[in-house]
Amino acid sequence: MIDLRSDTVTRPTPAMREAMARAEVGDDVYGEDPTVNRLQEIAAARMGKEAALFVPSGTMGNLVAILAHCQRGDEVMLGDKSHTFLYEVGGISALGGIHSRQIPNQPDGSLHLQDLEAGLRGPDVHFPPSRLICLENTHNRCGGTYQTPEYTRQVAEFAHAHGVAVHLDGARLFNAAIAQGVDVKEFTQHVDSVTFCLSKGLAAPVGSVMCGTREFIRKAHRVRKMLGGGMRQAGVLAAAGIVALETMVDRLAEDHTRARRLAEGLASLPGVTLDYGLPATNMVFLSLSDDVPLSAKQMAERIKACGVLVGVIGQRQFRLVTHYEVDDSGVEQAIEAFRSVLTSLG
Ligand SMILES: *Cc1c(COP(=O)(O)O)cnc(C)c1O
Repeated sequence: MIDLRSDTVTRPTPAMREAMARAEVGDDVYGEDPTVNRLQEIAAARMGKEAALFVPSGTMGNLVAILAHCQRGDEVMLGDKSHTFLYEVGGISALGGIHSRQIPNQPDGSLHLQDLEAGLRGPDVHFPPSRLICLENTHNRCGGTYQTPEYTRQVAEFAHAHGVAVHLDGARLFNAAIAQGVDVKEFTQHVDSVTFCLSKGLAAPVGSVMCGTREFIRKAHRVRKMLGGGMRQAGVLAAAGIVALETMVDRLAEDHTRARRLAEGLASLPGVTLDYGLPATNMVFLSLSDDVPLSAKQMAERIKACGVLVGVIGQRQFRLVTHYEVDDSGVEQAIEAFRSVLTSLG
């Protein structure tokens, strides 16, 4: 099967399996797992932050960060298409009592500065205090688009001038950096905290890392424990994360090249349109035109019969994501699957 549903489907590489088997471990709740500690040091250095915290998922990483930045009743400004708003089960409100202010995401996933300015709360007694702005880069629901370091700087400058912190949901921040040919620190130097994922394009089996100042991570560590995220011999997972960080980042460029080839091939077929044009990173969003007599779900079933799995995200819309386990021939097979199903419809 060529599985294009998500880059989360990547399985640990042989080098990761070996590192996991050999990992030195201890009880991380006591701070005694040397492999977790090493992953956290490497991640913090890579992000240009003082400290880092290994978490089981990106969802927990964002939740821990937002809970550590905000008190109950505080307000966070985030995108109306952001992962945290759409797909994290409303955890910031349900568990944190944090009020969300949804700012319209622009097509590239950014939030307009003027919208942030308009969203900022004054001292009036009717208002919840604005405490935090959350950015997402690359932006998942906006098509895997990216924002620039300069944009990130502008948002942070605005936020900090008003005593507001900035958290970056960088689940795929390395994709954003690779696509723009810059170091991740170009983004992270401006923000107060950042989460990135080890288990999407980087192919580790489990985990994300949240980074910030030493003081902030101390606070976040307590929040992670409160959420039940204190892990014991997690070094077996961290070991794979270290391999991911040290060996899997640069190859993301291949995923971007393949996503582009995939998009070009699909766009040349009748009945298919690219929702966001050619992909900026590793995601291709496409829709079926009205004359195709199948729903996206029905189409996906036929494509599956050709050995290709795709994500259905709407009545007529798909998301296809390239990753480590999809090679050039997988891309051609996916294009061919769409071609054969579409042409069989007559
Ligand atoms: C996947 C993702 C997350 C959440 O990560 P999980 O590990 O699936 O909880 C957060 N933000 C973005 C942008 C994502 O794509």
